[in-house]
Amino acid sequence: MIENELLARYTTWRIGGPARYLALPADPEDVARAVAFAREHGLPWTVLGLGSNVLVKDGGFAGVVIRMGKGLDRFEMKGATAIVGAGLPIPLLARRTAETGFVGVERFIGIPGTVGGGVYMNAGCHGAEFAEVVTEATVLDQAGQVRAVSRKQIPFSYRASNLGHVVVLEAKLSLGEESPAKLKEIQTRLLRWRKAGTPFDQPCAGSTFRNPGGPRTAGMLIDECGLKGHREGGAQISALHANYFVNTGSATAGDVLRLIEHVRKTVRKRTGVELALEIKVIGT
Ligand SMILES: Cc1cc2nc3c(=O)[nH]c(=O)nc-3n(C[C@H](O)[C@H](O)[C@H](O)COP(=O)(O)OP(=O)(O)OC[C@H]3O[C@@H](n4cnc5c(N)ncnc54)[C@H](O)[C@@H]3O)c2cc1C
Repeated sequence: MIENELLARYTTWRIGGPARYLALPADPEDVARAVAFAREHGLPWTVLGLGSNVLVKDGGFAGVVIRMGKGLDRFEMKGATAIVGAGLPIPLLARRTAETGFVGVERFIGIPGTVGGGVYMNAGCHGAEFAEVVTEATVLDQAGQVRAVSRKQIPFSYRASNLGHVVVLEAKLSLGEESPAKLKEIQTRLLRWRKAGTPFDQPCAGSTFRNPGGPRTAGMLIDECGLKGHREGGAQISALHANYFVNTGSATAGDVLRLIEHVRKTVRKRTGVELALEIKVIGT
């Protein structure tokens, strides 16, 4: 357990204050130990994957942050079922399954999170989402119990698994068969599309707001309000993608929160639409 570790290093926004304790578990037993430690010390705990959809506040997190990564990145195929660890990066999952001729998660190639974060957030793109392929998740709950939760028991909704306060340790994904060449072609095309619309040269955290439903995405609404390029301190709305807010170098979480409020107010006033956050805000 590392004490007072700055979380900016562990988020794609490169923003965030310190965690009182940061656990870097090497196996599920370590995860259980971190949750038990938090319980024994009366501290809150939270989970981080690759930090690609979180804003950690400048005051940090006064508890235990459990960062899922190496050691928890199992990848195994049993027939057409992928058994994958929560710490496995989603692009690796997409590439490995495609290379071995399995279809179902190939379109996730450009989602820069972990399988655990993907399942927890019900991440998705290009008309596909994790909910369609997950058949079971293994979770560790607040009491420290490890249990298997079947697809039927997971109330997935748009960008949410609604799993509650648990650590996702592993997932089973049901895939189909397809030619590796065809899957590779799809991935090459999608990556090209992503490259053109993503500010890869600046730290960001993907979509800030959820799409509100209806004909216009959150990005379209923000763009319509003329907000592309708008800046609060070091945080700026990307000129490439209006729902992506970038860190121009010195942004604080306070800057991002001010930008979020400005966008919310402006979009509400001009279009009547109330935008809701997709990113998760952690800390104080
Ligand atoms: C450039 C860019 C493009 C993106 N494109 C997409 C896209 O196309 N589609 C999309 O859906 N998302 C997209 N995202 C957002 C993000 O990559 C996904 O939401 C991803 O699934 C988050 O995974 P993570 O491991 O980074 O989770 P984190 O950001 O670390 O965490 C997100 C949430 O999940 C929880 N969590 C993480 N791991 C676990 C676990 N093992 N158990 C329990 N809870 C956990 C955290 O507590 C937090 O609440 C994009 C982000 C970026 C930066």
